[in-house]
Amino acid sequence: MKAMIKALLVLVLVSAASATTLPAWSQSADDFQRLVRQPDYRQRQHSRIREELRRWRNGAQAPAERLWQETRAHFNLNPRDAELREALLRMLQQRHAARQLSPQAEELYYYQLLNLEPRNSVYRDRLAALLLQKHGGHSPAEVRQAYQRLNDAFNTWDKRQYDRALQLFRQARLPRSAELTAIVAAHLRDRGHFDEAHKLLSSFAGDRSYLSWIDESLKAMQASQRIVNSSFAESDKLMARIQLGHLSQAEMAIKAQPDGPMKHWYQAKWLEKQASYHSASVEYRAYYQQRWSQQLPGFVPVVYKAQLEDVNSLDLIALKFRTSPDLIRQVNEAWPHDWVETYRMLIVPVPRREMAWPTTGYVSSHFGYRLHPIRGTWRLHEGLDIETLKGVKATAPLPGKVVQAGYDSGCGNLIRLQHAEPALRTVFCHGERLLQRQGAQLTQGQDVLVTGTTGASASIHLHFGVQLNGVYSDPMDWL
Ligand SMILES: [Zn+2]
Repeated sequence: MKAMIKALLVLVLVSAASATTLPAWSQSADDFQRLVRQPDYRQRQHSRIREELRRWRNGAQAPAERLWQETRAHFNLNPRDAELREALLRMLQQRHAARQLSPQAEELYYYQLLNLEPRNSVYRDRLAALLLQKHGGHSPAEVRQAYQRLNDAFNTWDKRQYDRALQLFRQARLPRSAELTAIVAAHLRDRGHFDEAHKLLSSFAGDRSYLSWIDESLKAMQASQRIVNSSFAESDKLMARIQLGHLSQAEMAIKAQPDGPMKHWYQAKWLEKQASYHSASVEYRAYYQQRWSQQLPGFVPVVYKAQLEDVNSLDLIALKFRTSPDLIRQVNEAWPHDWVETYRMLIVPVPRREMAWPTTGYVSSHFGYRLHPIRGTWRLHEGLDIETLKGVKATAPLPGKVVQAGYDSGCGNLIRLQHAEPALRTVFCHGERLLQRQGAQLTQGQDVLVTGTTGASASIHLHFGVQLNGVYSDPMDWL
């Protein structure tokens, strides 16, 4: 009986969110795992796909869905393969050329292109125009001011001054901006202000087609409300209560849960709602360890906090991390949507490559263009940010020699390593304290520095950069 109710709950939640308009990519999670686990299989498939790509290039047709999916899976496993990257870019362009894209789908499309070609300024400029459109025709000055308040709101939220933060979120809202409205509503909902959140979403007067998130979050909120008001057992209402910010009832229900992976999962969600991101990421990892680590050899679980520049797309997050969206869905308790709320955490299993992850924490920012929240200008973020706690060390991802150990105003205390591949260097920024001197020869996993917040930094984190022939490239091509 209980299992049936759970299945019903999942159905209710899934059907509330099934009308997504985001283009999703779907390679079965099982096949992706097989590609990771079986090198021979991967090699055979790889040769076949190269052959098919050659034939596709010589013809004029758009690629078949299957070839698109397979190319993407193989690119995920070989992101430094220029041929696959080039094919993927051309396929993406062909797939979209024939279609009339909604502004949201177009924004996502340009972010996908930028992920594959991060220094292309044509894509970046098109994105800038789309972002203004997304904010409903408000002037750049108004948008800039809204972003400033949003930034203040998030910082206040992270300090757990929720009432003050909510006030700033309310002020950050631009009436015709779908995105800013959705962000305000999500935070109101998270603190239990259901009616206000509901009213904001249902009375939104801007372009509703821009962000399918508006209508879908409304449906998901209503579904949670129905569950909370139902006669289900308290244990079956737990997720809905967390969703709606009923935090003290949820806390009691979590305490009553039996020990096991799900208890960690609920605990993670509960902590996350209160901006306890580090504690939440510890719980997410404990959940993954108990529930998935045996089943997924060859993968590293990364906890990620989604950012504005993810366009709420699970698919884009999967592309950025070079992994399968279906696998992300699977390890997040069958994530029921194609969209992800901004600043929400999820576990991303990443295929293990030769470079080891340089520290533990949660990833808060990717390599790529992002709009500076205060200056309103675009800049290329040339590395990966991993949020850490005071005293956490960073380690060498590969054997290497320390070629620079010093300080600069942007990077703070930094270490630069030269690896065996002559073109390859890695850089570690914002250290509290350096643990190596110039000239030291390091093995993989040896301590490099204690992470901190020196230089241009607002929190304790590691900025990890990968340089190829002196040019910063996406660390996810290596990690
Ligand atoms: Zn950074």
